[in-house]
Amino acid sequence: MTRLAQTAGLTDIQREILSTVRDFVDKEILPVATELEHRDEYPQAIVDGLKELGLFGLMIPEEYGGLGESLLTYALCVEEIARGWMSVSGIINTHFIVAYMLKQHGTQEQKDHFLPRMATGEVRGAFSMSEPGLGSDVSAITSKAVQDGEEYVLNGQKMWLTNGGSSTLVAVLVRSDEGHPEGTAPHKSMTTFLVEKEPGFGEVRPGLTIPGKIDKMGYKGVDTTELIMDGLRIPANRVLGGATGRGFYQMMDGVEVGRVNVAARGCGVAQRAFELGVSYAQQRHTFGKPIAQHQAIQFKLAEMATKVEAAHAMMVNAARKKDSGERNDLEAGMAKYLASEYCKEVVEDAFRIHGGYGFSKEYEIERLYREAPMLLIGEGTAEIQKMIIGRRLLEEYRFQG
Ligand SMILES: Cc1cc2nc3c(=O)[nH]c(=O)nc-3n(C[C@H](O)[C@H](O)[C@H](O)COP(=O)(O)OP(=O)(O)OC[C@H]3O[C@@H](n4cnc5c(N)ncnc54)[C@H](O)[C@@H]3O)c2cc1C
Repeated sequence: MTRLAQTAGLTDIQREILSTVRDFVDKEILPVATELEHRDEYPQAIVDGLKELGLFGLMIPEEYGGLGESLLTYALCVEEIARGWMSVSGIINTHFIVAYMLKQHGTQEQKDHFLPRMATGEVRGAFSMSEPGLGSDVSAITSKAVQDGEEYVLNGQKMWLTNGGSSTLVAVLVRSDEGHPEGTAPHKSMTTFLVEKEPGFGEVRPGLTIPGKIDKMGYKGVDTTELIMDGLRIPANRVLGGATGRGFYQMMDGVEVGRVNVAARGCGVAQRAFELGVSYAQQRHTFGKPIAQHQAIQFKLAEMATKVEAAHAMMVNAARKKDSGERNDLEAGMAKYLASEYCKEVVEDAFRIHGGYGFSKEYEIERLYREAPMLLIGEGTAEIQKMIIGRRLLEEYRFQG
C-alpha cells in the first residue's frame, strides 16, 4: 500500500479484496494499458481476469451469486483499477449501475433472470439516457415507447453509450406517455426498459442498431456508441420494476451511486499522476540537481498530494453515507465535483513536471492527460453537480425569517 489515500476502518475482507485488486492492476493492467490505449484495443484479457476475480458481481447480493459487498468496497476497487487504466473502470461502471438499478427497483422475476448471470459477467450491462440533443437535461428525452398489447414499441436515437457494443443488456430511458395524461411532468412519464441484445455492432436485434464506435480523444479501449431504435419491440415484463412512469427516478438513483464511482476514478487517475510526477522529479536533473530539489517543483508535489488526499477522503465519505442507508446526493455531488476537478489539476501538474517528455506518447502521463477530461463530463458535468449541491444546501439551510 502507498502512503497516500489510506482508508481507516476497513474490515479484513475489504483489505484482502483491495490487495488482490491492486496486485492485479500492477501485474496485468499497468504494463499493457498505454499500448492497448494507443491501439484503441478492447482489453479482453483484463476483462476475463476481472471476471475471475468476481468483480462484475462485487455488489450483487450473495443470494444471486455475487459477493454482496458495500459501495465503499466497490469504490475503493474502482480507485485501484483507474490507477491502472481508467477505461477498465468504465467497463465495470455501467454494468455496476444496471445491476444496482435491478437490485433496487427490479421485479423478483427480473432479479432472478438477470442478476446471477450479471454476477459472473456473462450478462454485461450498459445504460442509456443521453441523446444527440441532450445530456444534462434528461427531462427533454424524445425517444418514445408506445404500448401495443403485451409489448411496447420503441423508437428514437440514443447517444454516448459506454459499453454500447460489448454489453448484452441495456437499461434504456424513454418517454412513455400512456396512462400519463398530456401535461404530466416529464419526470413522471419516463420508463426504463431492460433491452437484451447480442454484443457487437450493426443490427444486434430486430429494430435495434449499434452503428459503431465513436472515435474519442481518450477513454479508449472501452467502446462508446450510439443506439438506434426503429420499431424495437420489448415485452411488458421488461419494464424495470413492472410499472411505467418511474424510469427517471430509477435512473437518477443509479447515477447517484455512479457519481461516487466517477469520484473514485478521479482519485485513482490522480494517484497515478502523482506517482509518475514524484518519480520523474527525482530522476530529471536541471541546474545541477534533481528537479525535485527545486522548491517550485516540491510545492507542486505538495499540492498534488494534498489534492489526492482530499478527494479520497470525500469519496470515502460519500460511499460510507450511502452504505449507512442515508441520502447521499449532496456528498456524492461534492465528491464527484471535487475529485474530477482535482484529478484534472494533478494530471496537468504531473504533465508539467515531465517537461517536453510529457508530450511524448512514450510517457504514460500523455495518456492520463487525455483521459482526465472525461471525468469532468460523465455522470453529470461540474455545472450539474453544482446545481445539485446548491439546491441541497438551500434545503438544509432554509431561511427561517
Ligand atoms: C465518453 C463519454 C461516455 C458517456 N457515457 C454515457 C453513458 O454510458 N450513458 C449515457 O446516458 N450518457 C453517457 N455520456 C453522456 C454524458 O452523460 C453527457 O455528455 C453529459 O451528461 C453532458 O451532456 P451533454 O454532452 O449533452 O452536454 P450539455 O447538456 O449540452 O451541456 C453543455 C454545457 O452546458 C452546461 N450546462 C447545461 N445545462 C446547464 C445549466 N442548466 N446551467 C449551467 N450550465 C449548464 C454543461 O455543464 C456543459 O458545460 C457519456 C459521455 C461521454 C463523453
